[in-house]
Amino acid sequence: MSYFPLFADLNHRKVLVVGAGTVAERKITALLKAQAQVYIVAQKLNPQIQTWVEQQRVHYLGEQFEESQLLPVFLVIAASNDRSLNQQVYACAERHAKFCNTVDDKALCSYIMPSIVDRDPLQIAISSAGSAPVLAKQLRQQLETTLPAQLGQAACIAQQWRDKVKQQLPDEQQRRLFWEQLFASSFTTLASSGQADKAQALLAQRLDHPDHRESGLVTLVGAGPGDPGLLTLNALQAMQKADVVLHDALISPEILELVRRDAKRINVGKRAGAHLSKQEEINQLLVQYAQQGLNVVRLKGGDPFVFGRGGEECETLVAHGINFRIVPGVTAALGATAYAGIPLTHRDYAQTVQFITGHLKGDHAQVSWKCLARSQQTLVIYMGTLKSEILSKELIAHGRDADTPVALVSHGTMAKQHVTVGTLQTLPQLAQQAQRPTLIIIGEVVKLRQTIQWFQP
Ligand code: SAH
Repeated sequence: MSYFPLFADLNHRKVLVVGAGTVAERKITALLKAQAQVYIVAQKLNPQIQTWVEQQRVHYLGEQFEESQLLPVFLVIAASNDRSLNQQVYACAERHAKFCNTVDDKALCSYIMPSIVDRDPLQIAISSAGSAPVLAKQLRQQLETTLPAQLGQAACIAQQWRDKVKQQLPDEQQRRLFWEQLFASSFTTLASSGQADKAQALLAQRLDHPDHRESGLVTLVGAGPGDPGLLTLNALQAMQKADVVLHDALISPEILELVRRDAKRINVGKRAGAHLSKQEEINQLLVQYAQQGLNVVRLKGGDPFVFGRGGEECETLVAHGINFRIVPGVTAALGATAYAGIPLTHRDYAQTVQFITGHLKGDHAQVSWKCLARSQQTLVIYMGTLKSEILSKELIAHGRDADTPVALVSHGTMAKQHVTVGTLQTLPQLAQQAQRPTLIIIGEVVKLRQTIQWFQP
């Protein structure tokens, strides 16, 4: 092992920094985060460091480095752009048995600083011992994307319960098993998704009733309109932790590729239950799998709460006392229009946008056509191709210009995206030729596609 890794407690400990340029500023930022007392020696201070000196957040010792400045400090950073000065600082530090780091000069370092993944109080430090800093950085980026941003919350809650757990489980081995099983359960996800109270309840339950096994956690994940690049980090993390994935029929194969290999995948879009409606059947499956203690992901196209019946699924979970969380997704209205080069609003053409479902019930009495037909607004219609005749007829009858531009975007954001453009008058003909899924956009903003279109797969 070329370096001995350790985490230093610099809280209120003195650190000397020689140099006050951009690199020094970066190091000082990290030192201040660790609450160190920073002393600076430099010919010239950069504006940020000058401000810190004025705010008395750091102490300026003067222009000249002197050996005596080293005596009270625990650590030294040589960050000047003068190599002979850095050499002098390093040599002095060695003489006084102080650890010294010289920026970008491994030969003048008695310690090096790792790349950090910070999930305070959890910290992961990565080093290649100077051999391949870029590799260490790549590793850091991978960890950054796979670890939930609020993972530290799980550690914070554990900290609060440490004594209590120790009291209740005096046997060390038993205690270790308790923590291992707790962190492997939905506790960690609850804690890191803003549900500290539920995480604590789960911990308390496991402590008082070791034999009780709680239901698994259900995550409603919005998978976006198709392009896997539009998944959020939270979506990806949930998909990679899932035991079971219940997905819509429309979820693209590229997205399903990203689900954890061992997870059971169920296409709930295809099932047509004999005695239950499709939605009732999905609700029941969610409850069943969660009650088996499994980590369930409900993967839905676009966003779960936009014409996605995510609300009903959540109501069912609440009724059964099952924990859940929601990962929003890019809804088709945002994704498909962006990839079609149609801005939903524009200062000259539309100040309002309405998302409408084409699944209109009964005689359409619940629709305010007058309101929908207003000018200076964009209409986005989901599931609208079958109702395009009524849409066209009623909007024109209620005052929207028959020549209002209209676009139909099929398979938006995907390689097979197809866009057709016409007018409100010709909408029914266009809709007849459209492949599903198709989004209808009505409004002057459609004209902008001529200038803005960029995605031509
Ligand atoms: N929850 C989804 C919408 C589900 S309703 C969301 O937020 O996007 C299904 C309708 O969404 C389809 O009939 C179609 O109108 C629209 N849609 C979904 N994905 C689409 C895509 N990639 N391109 C165009 N329209 C899409």
